[in-house]
Amino acid sequence: MDSEWHIRRQMVEFGKRIYDKGFVAATDGNLSQRLSGDRMLITPSGFCLGEMQPTDLTIVSLAGRFLTGPHKPTSELPLHLATYRHRPDVQAVVHAHPPTANAFSFAGESLEQCVIPEVVAGFGTIPTTCYATPSSEEGAEVIRDFIRDHDGLILQRHGTLTVGADLREAYFRLEKIEHAAQITLMARILGKVIPLNEDELRRLGETSERHGWRPAGAILDACRAVDPSKG
Ligand SMILES: [Zn+2]
Repeated sequence: MDSEWHIRRQMVEFGKRIYDKGFVAATDGNLSQRLSGDRMLITPSGFCLGEMQPTDLTIVSLAGRFLTGPHKPTSELPLHLATYRHRPDVQAVVHAHPPTANAFSFAGESLEQCVIPEVVAGFGTIPTTCYATPSSEEGAEVIRDFIRDHDGLILQRHGTLTVGADLREAYFRLEKIEHAAQITLMARILGKVIPLNEDELRRLGETSERHGWRPAGAILDACRAVDPSKG
């Protein structure tokens, strides 16, 4: 496992990247990573992700108890705790408000359709949760049915939740979701968005499996769940 100081520096670096990319505004967004001993490092409440120092970060237990740090943890702590509880495999969690992906949810539109091959092979699908008040316990509840099987979610009228084996992977998944939203929006402006057909999905599944990405069966099942006409 990386040293705690290395993780602190990474959290500051990815926080800055998220802010500089416009994936959050002002003091929005939060990041966390598991530490040894059932603890996690998490960003503090009321801080701009672009202005943090490694010593500003807070350590809490995976049961949600404050352990050390100069500031209170983010008010989205319940969302991070619930994610680690449901996903023992996950090491890092990123919550942000990327504008295009967010706009889809405000318009009642989904990004779940299987349209972009690399996204389908990387994510399966990107579901949207039910609405919950931001920073509430309810927010931790609405992810329950989705986070077990997905590495990236749209939180309705709020933002995204992405997970990974480290902060870099969780950050890249955020970047991919926003990019997918931008591509989908452009395609909609230009005309009709056409999902991958059954044959294209099957071939994508074979390639994905060959490269050791997502299993072919998982890709087909996920896309059939979104569009029952497939298969
Ligand atoms: Zn938020």
